[in-house]
Amino acid sequence: MPLNLVLIGPPGSGKGTQAVRIARRYNLPHISTGDILRQAIRDGTPLGREVEATIAGGALVSDELISSLVEVRLQQPDVARGFLLDGFPRTVDQARFLDTLQPDLMVIHIDVPDDEIIKRLSTRRVCRSCGLTQSVSADEATGEACPYCGGTLVRREDDDARTVKTRLTTYATFAGPLIAHYRTRPQFVPIDGVKEPDRVSDDIFRSIGAVR
Ligand code: AMP
Repeated sequence: MPLNLVLIGPPGSGKGTQAVRIARRYNLPHISTGDILRQAIRDGTPLGREVEATIAGGALVSDELISSLVEVRLQQPDVARGFLLDGFPRTVDQARFLDTLQPDLMVIHIDVPDDEIIKRLSTRRVCRSCGLTQSVSADEATGEACPYCGGTLVRREDDDARTVKTRLTTYATFAGPLIAHYRTRPQFVPIDGVKEPDRVSDDIFRSIGAVR
């Protein structure tokens, strides 16, 4: 049976970290719409040029654009055994569209309160080489080496304080209705994201096993 997972959570909820672990454990393609768009920006493609300003400002790109991108991705052969969607859907319209592509979904919602998110994002850095996310000791720290590969740790451009506020406001606007869309389904899994990352992973793996 394919395992079709959707991961929902605010920026800084540990969603990206957990997504990597889930994808590895269940051998699923990890489809992060944010990563796809950031790669397009780095590559300077027409898509990248189209979304660059929106992402830098912390707003959402259009439902049509992101939905057609996901539709194309879900047609790839590696998706036959299932997938892990990270960052999509973000709106009810995107969720409705996804239901038309694949109604059999397990939805994992990682919940973390706003004050904890703001604290986490100010110290979050991404490794320029291996792409792993980690937290540094001080808000202003830059240029520290990645403990995994020695690469340079950089702040994500949209992790500056003002953009984080916009992203959280955007998330708050859309998350309520999105979660309401999924909450009553038997395959909806609420997860407390304030715990240590390893405990959050344990909770997720246990819940996936139980729902399956
Ligand atoms: P993320 O890495 O998931 O936080 O995404 C980074 C940025 O990409 C977001 O702030 C949005 O501008 C854009 N983005 C990613 N996924 C979506 C989506 N499903 N709908 C709209 N915009 C998105």
